[in-house]
Amino acid sequence: MLYSVKMRSAQGGAHEQGGRHISGAERMVPTESIEQVALSMIERAFHHSRGCADFINLKIEEVSEQNFVYVNQLPIDTVVTQDVPQGRKLAKETLIAAGVTEKAAQSGLDQLTNLTDSMRGAMLISAADGQRLDPFTQRGVRVSSMDIADSKHYESLLIQLGLTDVHVREAVVLASKVQSAPGVIAELCWSDDLNYTTGYVANHLGYFRFPHLKQPDSPVGGRAFFVEPDIDLEKLINYLENTPVLVVPQNFAEKEEPCKS
Ligand code: AMP
Repeated sequence: MLYSVKMRSAQGGAHEQGGRHISGAERMVPTESIEQVALSMIERAFHHSRGCADFINLKIEEVSEQNFVYVNQLPIDTVVTQDVPQGRKLAKETLIAAGVTEKAAQSGLDQLTNLTDSMRGAMLISAADGQRLDPFTQRGVRVSSMDIADSKHYESLLIQLGLTDVHVREAVVLASKVQSAPGVIAELCWSDDLNYTTGYVANHLGYFRFPHLKQPDSPVGGRAFFVEPDIDLEKLINYLENTPVLVVPQNFAEKEEPCKS
């Protein structure tokens, strides 16, 4: 039996009463892990670099396993960059190579750069002309109901890659779900955590990390999903927000069959 554990925290009251978003997290875990996962989420809300939360919403609910969709984890790669201008230039090229037009890639970068504070979710942007398609303004589309299918294997894979940071752990799962949605072409993200300057572009080929996508000490992060312009928005948003997805870690099958030659 798996349980969805979701946390969102804000400062100055609840989000719905105008509180400023501090942090959010979510996992899908077996009964015996609920307590430890919930505790670490609360800890995170109280010790986030964006500030200390005075509102925390923690929701725990059972998810029926027969509803799960299994998707493959995106392979992870790092593109070495020296500074933010170079990082953003290469990120833009990666978006264009995935099928986003130059105009839309630039518009996505500009829309994230021009945010004055972090959104809670992601913008949906037309991969053709860069127009924002979702109606959710500062809330954005919040991807939910996902986790890794095998935490132990995933964590050893991340350790092998030298990537032990919680940002990568969570973002690869989220990006793998997003890329599994029909009509999504690419994703661009940088964190709202002050100390974390690494961002990424994801497309159907992989999750490409760029060590410098924002300046250190900036509390403003953002996410943009570039989608086909004629996409069924309601269907996409429902998949991203509600369909329970378990991400199968890369090479999982091979690792589980030691006798395979
Ligand atoms: P983070 O990588 O957690 O620092 O988040 C960076 C930005 O991505 C945030 O400022 C939000 O705009 C967005 N974001 C965070 N979590 C989600 C989510 N679950 N779904 C969609 N967008 C998110």
